Amino acid sequence: MPRTALIAGNWKMNGLADSLKWAQALAGMLSGRPSTDVAICPPATLIRALGEQLPDFVALGGQDCSPHPCGAHTGDIAASMLKDLGCRYVIVGHSERRANHHEGDDLVKAKARAALDARLIPIVCVGETLAERETGQAEQVVIGQLAASLPDNVPAGEIVIAYEPVWAIGTGKTATPDDAQAMHAQIRKAWPGEDAQALRLLYGGSVKPENAAQLLACSDIDGALVGGASLDAAAFAAIVNAAR
Ligand code: PEP
Repeated sequence: MPRTALIAGNWKMNGLADSLKWAQALAGMLSGRPSTDVAICPPATLIRALGEQLPDFVALGGQDCSPHPCGAHTGDIAASMLKDLGCRYVIVGHSERRANHHEGDDLVKAKARAALDARLIPIVCVGETLAERETGQAEQVVIGQLAASLPDNVPAGEIVIAYEPVWAIGTGKTATPDDAQAMHAQIRKAWPGEDAQALRLLYGGSVKPENAAQLLACSDIDGALVGGASLDAAAFAAIVNAAR
């Protein structure tokens, strides 16, 4: 079954009102509607305004959501609120949330379920630390995170998994295409349903225009989650074009 690649930009905690110029620049740099899916996950404060500037083929995503549908959770954002803002995706379990906010697999699983309940596509992040890779535990850690973070009985077409080795995020270091492909193949093999061929697996970790084509050419890499390079419209457009 052919899988449509997805290139998703994660702006993290970057962007003010003048970042809307980015959207106009991106629209000018993409030569028409790409054959890949494209999404931007800006800070929540910019979702609506950015959505008004972007071409309709660029989807929006949140960077996190609450596991709760609504209620007394000051400062949190419900998945339904992201949906209401026009989002199609939401990132859950990013390593910065796992590390800085002590989010464990159970919470990631609950957030992914909340996203599905709100008819969003969760982008569930998994990835090993450098110490785990150097001690030969990378695969065990990643497959363990996957098993514990996935909601039960989710069709593969309704979720996206991002493999993001923690040591490659924001460091300029990238997994080799062979290492990334090997991990992606293991993730697909570990998918609990019969529909693993429909599962989209993104690679994340210092993806740039210079390394995107090689990574995206791997058979089990179905796109990229792009942090730093997504803040530069020209670099992000080049990554989208590399995936065509
Ligand atoms: C990320 O934060 O998801 C990410 C992959 O960041 P970067 O591309 O900057 O490594």
